[in-house]
Amino acid sequence: MKVLTAEFIRSCVSAEQYPQERWPEIAFVGRSNVGKSSIINCLVNRKKLAKVSTTPGKTRTLNFFRVVVDDPVLKQMCFVDLPGYGYAKAARSLREQWGPMIEQYLTKSLQLFTVVQLVDMRGLEEHDLTTYHWLKNAGHDPLIVGTKVDKLSRNDRNKSLNTISKAFSFQGGEAVIVSSAKTHEGRLEIWKALRRGYERRSEQ
Ligand code: GDP
Repeated sequence: MKVLTAEFIRSCVSAEQYPQERWPEIAFVGRSNVGKSSIINCLVNRKKLAKVSTTPGKTRTLNFFRVVVDDPVLKQMCFVDLPGYGYAKAARSLREQWGPMIEQYLTKSLQLFTVVQLVDMRGLEEHDLTTYHWLKNAGHDPLIVGTKVDKLSRNDRNKSLNTISKAFSFQGGEAVIVSSAKTHEGRLEIWKALRRGYERRSEQ
């Protein structure tokens, strides 16, 4: 996928701050440190569009990025980077704020056509499953992307894929996209899945 432009628009803590002009949106969710910023940067072929954090749990706002691609279907969209969940060391009061803000966005945004849920290929945590089921209940069909696969041997990678598929009760059509921001493995598959998601949404 050729990315023509990718720019940060703004960080928001409430709905009033969302950009006025709304483009079709793709939300990225995942536990802190899962590699969300890295995969966003990988998708748009930029080194530092989304900040790659060294301190897990740093991002507490909804960050909007405008992305224009050279593709007849997708054309232009917004990437929405949601705060990482399940970071134990974040102050309790902040964690309590993240919930309603994310929930409000995920249940009310009419432009949202795909939620990408990132899970670390090295192991799932309870928060990953809770979030997945919450998203399903909210009417989303999350695209599951396994991150940091370059850190696994071929054998462990297959084991991990099985574990994730079982944990999410995937059957037949559903699948985990395996990715690495380091090697760019999975980049094209993610873009293809985003395009399919957009086409499905347009047909409804
Ligand atoms: P975020 O908190 O989910 O946005 O995670 P980041 O993108 O900031 O990544 C967290 C840490 O994992 C950083 O040190 C990254 O360099 C590292 N990381 C992210 N993606 C990959 C990957 O695909 N492969 C490897 N080896 N490291 C990664």
